[in-house]
Amino acid sequence: MEIDDIDTIAVLGAGNMGHGIAEVAALAGYSVNLRDINEEFVQNGYEQIEWSLGKLAENDRITDDDADAALDAITPLVSMEEAVGDVDVIIEAVPEQMSIKQDVYGEVEEYARADTIIASNTSSLSITDLSEVTERESQFCGMHFFNPPVRMQLVEVISGAHTDDSTLDAIEALAEDFGKTPVRVRKDTPGFIVNRILVPLMNETCWLVSEDESTIAEIDSTTKFDVGLPMGAFELGDQVGNDVTYHVLEYMNDVLGDAYEPAPLLETVMEEERFGKKTGEGFYDYENGDGVDIPTDAGSEEIKQRLLATMANEVGNLVGDGVAPPEDIDQAVQLGAGYPEGPAKMADAAGLESLVELLDELYEETGAERYAVSDGLREHADAGGFYDDDEEEGIEYDAVRVEYPGEMVGQIVLDRPHRMNTVSPQLLEELEHAIETLEDDDEVRSILLTGAGDKAFSAGADVQAMAANADPLEAIQLSRTGQQAFGTLEESDLPVVAGIDGYCLGGGMELATCADMRVATERSTFGQPELDLGLLPGWGGTQRLQKIIGQGRAKEVILTAEQYDTETMADYGFVNEVVDNDELEDAAFELAADLAAGPPVATRFTKKAMLRGWEDVDAGLEIESQAFGHLINTDDLMEGITAFMGDGDPEFEGK
Ligand code: NAD
Repeated sequence: MEIDDIDTIAVLGAGNMGHGIAEVAALAGYSVNLRDINEEFVQNGYEQIEWSLGKLAENDRITDDDADAALDAITPLVSMEEAVGDVDVIIEAVPEQMSIKQDVYGEVEEYARADTIIASNTSSLSITDLSEVTERESQFCGMHFFNPPVRMQLVEVISGAHTDDSTLDAIEALAEDFGKTPVRVRKDTPGFIVNRILVPLMNETCWLVSEDESTIAEIDSTTKFDVGLPMGAFELGDQVGNDVTYHVLEYMNDVLGDAYEPAPLLETVMEEERFGKKTGEGFYDYENGDGVDIPTDAGSEEIKQRLLATMANEVGNLVGDGVAPPEDIDQAVQLGAGYPEGPAKMADAAGLESLVELLDELYEETGAERYAVSDGLREHADAGGFYDDDEEEGIEYDAVRVEYPGEMVGQIVLDRPHRMNTVSPQLLEELEHAIETLEDDDEVRSILLTGAGDKAFSAGADVQAMAANADPLEAIQLSRTGQQAFGTLEESDLPVVAGIDGYCLGGGMELATCADMRVATERSTFGQPELDLGLLPGWGGTQRLQKIIGQGRAKEVILTAEQYDTETMADYGFVNEVVDNDELEDAAFELAADLAAGPPVATRFTKKAMLRGWEDVDAGLEIESQAFGHLINTDDLMEGITAFMGDGDPEFEGK
């Protein structure tokens, strides 16, 4: 089966995951049969979809018509025969028990067509084992969505031992068509990719506490504020559910051996049924205690190294076993767990050799299997890292994407959708490099700057990634680095258009301020919230915004730290063009193409004169007159005049 042959989908199980998956499929235009074991359950799932679609429409993520069409595309069913009798793909999301899944597949085989693909959303069961209870082992794979499917970008597409490549290709293409990012898991291994990194990490943190080497406060402070992960390790554990972590770990322990032996602390919370937030108590007490309370300054470098070593060891396992290459692992963990950087990149930055040394020492001291260095890690440590630095010419983009959409427009996409395209130190570096690359390219005459995904242009600085820079001297340096990177855009010889959809806040708004013109969707939100954090806009915001919207308005925006809608920002003169939510791409590109067709030399001098004029009006006027004298002799001026007289479009050469 190929992607073009897929029109109809059955989702089995209308619970937590099933209803979300059905909603995603219907939004992508597929006809969906949603099936559960009784009327009440399936209706419940259907109503949750209706509610969720309503929310998306209310927040302008989709139109009311899209919401109605998606709901119309879903048929709630109890009959298995009707649900799977004539569909192209079946996505199974019934409870995580082999016996239940086995029964369901038995029933499916009675009614499904021979060419139908079955994909299981299982989090931990073996895809190979599951496929073997069907009669279509080669047309069976894993399709692991993350919770909630509507919001989470990652889908792990997992190969069983018997899965055909064509099945994996079709399901990967389907995930892409759903608007998701598939990452292929080439071998059926417990935990697949994301849980294989997260669960042993959680276990190691529990071992550290069990053996009195550290405390929950120290570890959560380290993970959240020093490593820069979205949550403290224990905070995340409580959120996910300690029972869920425990069951995945138990399975790893069974299949992979002693290295995955659950720590005593994890056993204790299981025995005491402290499963986390959902039971009111886990590592933290949410009912009778303060809940999560993580000190910002209790982190430890030693703990950080230990946790990085644990992650590096698992990356080594996955790479060494041929489950996935480092870049896929990094992408999966970034999208599935919101890590600011992938674990392989973080490990490389820490230095694989020192991590191996640390693990070797721990192994010698304790004899614990979890410290035995994986072959993959040792090999890559010898080779100098998971990533091959020699491959990189100058810089390898990760946080931004550079694209060439045509008509002499060079596009820079802020590409951290899992973090709302927030600005990290790495993004600053890459942005500056991308601007310079486009400026050096003779085929590029304007820059279009946009954000990946439909949630944010950029929601500001990545506070987490920057928390590591809490030192004042480093903060000053960070502010300068940002001013300089954004300044490169402001000072660019090329005209710059910012295409804004979603949040444009803090550092994101300061970046948009450096564009020459801004096009924004109706649903976007603007603001400089820094003062609310006791900070100030440190990437040029105190200087640049007032030049565009006047000092009175700039003071209002910065001092109130309020959020503004697009219409108001257009009234203030910040947004040049307001467009419908689904028209940003075309409208912003059109404007960038229009500017690219303008006279390059005159554009450059105009920008320069206006910029200098901001700093010093006399200097600006002087540049203006000098430029006027210079332009009078250019070929472009003749071209412009000729085209104007002949009513045609000028073709500027930049001479
Ligand atoms: P859930 O309990 O919320 O939903 C399961 C649904 O399946 C229930 O509505 C149940 O009535 C229904 N069901 C039971 N037997 C059935 C049958 N024979 N036919 C059809 N439906 C049947 O569970 P969930 O959290 O949605 O998990 C479903 C699957 O997704 C599991 O394999 C789980 O491991 C996986 N998963 C869960 C998460 C998560 O965060 N919850 C994330 C990724 C994957």
